[in-house]
Amino acid sequence: MDYSRSLLRWYRKNSRDFPWRTADTDPYVVLVSETMLQQTQTSRVAEALPRFLAVFPTIQDLARASNADVIRQWQGMGYNSRALRLRDAARSIVELHGGVVPCEMGLLRALPGVGPYTSAAIMCFAFNKRVVVLDVNVRRVYSRILARQKTTLDLELDETLIPFAEQLIPARNASAWHHAVMDLGATICTARAPKCGVCPLAEQCPSHDMLIPMTRPRRTEPTFRGEPQRIWRGRFIEVLRKIDGRSYTSISKLFTLAAGSPLQRSEHEWYQQTLQRLTSDGLIVGTSKGVRLAD
Ligand code: SF4
Repeated sequence: MDYSRSLLRWYRKNSRDFPWRTADTDPYVVLVSETMLQQTQTSRVAEALPRFLAVFPTIQDLARASNADVIRQWQGMGYNSRALRLRDAARSIVELHGGVVPCEMGLLRALPGVGPYTSAAIMCFAFNKRVVVLDVNVRRVYSRILARQKTTLDLELDETLIPFAEQLIPARNASAWHHAVMDLGATICTARAPKCGVCPLAEQCPSHDMLIPMTRPRRTEPTFRGEPQRIWRGRFIEVLRKIDGRSYTSISKLFTLAAGSPLQRSEHEWYQQTLQRLTSDGLIVGTSKGVRLAD
């Protein structure tokens, strides 16, 4: 079935405009944006990317950045450890590849923080290579057009999707193709309420108007004072991010600023463990004077 022509025609009129989708894509920009997109919404990344690139315009600038520099510029993105891994990847590229992002899956996978998705995305979006890129939107669209799915939650296994995707990717337009599938998944073939009535693939799609809406049960996360652990980690970093230079903040003050109320005796153990994890992740340093962002 010729999904390619229908989808690319739709994409020409409906593509989403993002700062990382430029005509002459810089592989460094793809590395940064794909790292940001790993766990952050596109709208936030669209705001943060130009700001980040204004401070670190080249891979050499990023490679030179201290932990504190890069964490400060990661503001609003969450999961701050990603910023350090991205900087470490930039350092590896400068040291091992002369500052040039490698165009080879194995070399990309060897970089800190670069997993199967990010390496495939760099090959595709930076170098227009015909590789399969599977993110959550793409998996969903491929599953639904490959076979009739019963519910909105059903997905095929990657082992099934990869050979199917390999046949679909156009020979010369892998980058545009993947952007098109991602946009279709984000705007029409959505997780909970696919808009089959306006879908460019409706005529060929076996799941067209067949999907029973279902919602995945929420994953339970460790919480503290009723909020997930990761939110608290982000809050502590946010407080330290706003403090200029290398000054230390006492750990009791850090807690009060982040939580809006003092630490209770029964909460000490949790707080100490959280600070230890932030330290071992390279995000903060602590001395008898208190804590600050790591160098
Ligand atoms: S017809 Fe419906 S299920 Fe099929 S790709 Fe389009 S939106 Fe998704």
